[in-house]
Amino acid sequence: MAAEMIWNPVRHTVLAFVAGAALSGCGTNYVIPETESKHMDEAKTMFAEARAAPLKPQVSDTVAQRRFNRVAARIKPVAESYCLRETSDRPYFNCDVRIGIDSRMKQRNAYFTYEGGSRPIIMVTEPMLRDMQNDHELAFVLGHEYGHLIGQHIEKRQQQALAGALILGSIAALATAGNPDSDPSTITDSMGLGYVAGSYAFSQEYELESDTLGTLITRTAGYDPVIGARYFARGEAPMLADGRLSFWGTHPPDARRIATVLATVEQLNQRGGLERQR
Ligand SMILES: [Zn+2]
Repeated sequence: MAAEMIWNPVRHTVLAFVAGAALSGCGTNYVIPETESKHMDEAKTMFAEARAAPLKPQVSDTVAQRRFNRVAARIKPVAESYCLRETSDRPYFNCDVRIGIDSRMKQRNAYFTYEGGSRPIIMVTEPMLRDMQNDHELAFVLGHEYGHLIGQHIEKRQQQALAGALILGSIAALATAGNPDSDPSTITDSMGLGYVAGSYAFSQEYELESDTLGTLITRTAGYDPVIGARYFARGEAPMLADGRLSFWGTHPPDARRIATVLATVEQLNQRGGLERQR
């Protein structure tokens, strides 16, 4: 296919605008506290301890259910009032999350999504609940999932995905412009590719932002986020034989995440809150 690139100021402006829109939607809403070497050292020690500790037996379904009821009841009002305060400039933002147990999924997992396209939900699976060894761990996981809501990560991913699709689509349109032999499906394919690329961009920053927000929510609700974050350090052993995604498929255990929790706790002790991006 002959790619005849013509310098066209109008198209160039459109492309720059689209690229700018993509970049403006990417950042985090909050400054992720910087981790110092002391945080990394402590995180690595916690990681090693969590990995070396013998696996404790799972709790019964009754214990798990009671823990879920107890912790969800304490996290929800704290997270909701923080969410309402932080999104007060967006009057239609829905902070009323339904927290539930996903009894169908067989993996240890927790996730945030929208039900029916508008009601935010946070779900935890039964295997994950049976696996948790104290209330702090569940509190931290729920706080982390609220972080995805307050950080508006789903909306941002959709914006990025759309912008990514438009950028690649525009490039393909430029490349095929004026070429009578060009296949119109090239443009569509490029937009699909851009959609996939865009939807996975920056996810690590969003996970760290969720950890930061989750630390604040966990602590405000009276739990210890550092004890809670140890759940992330334990990892899943043995990993699922069939390779299906679990919590560790989407949240790779990583000392930097624990270090970010430690740095956030220090910042909350010193300044009492998180810093918003300007
Ligand atoms: Zn997450």
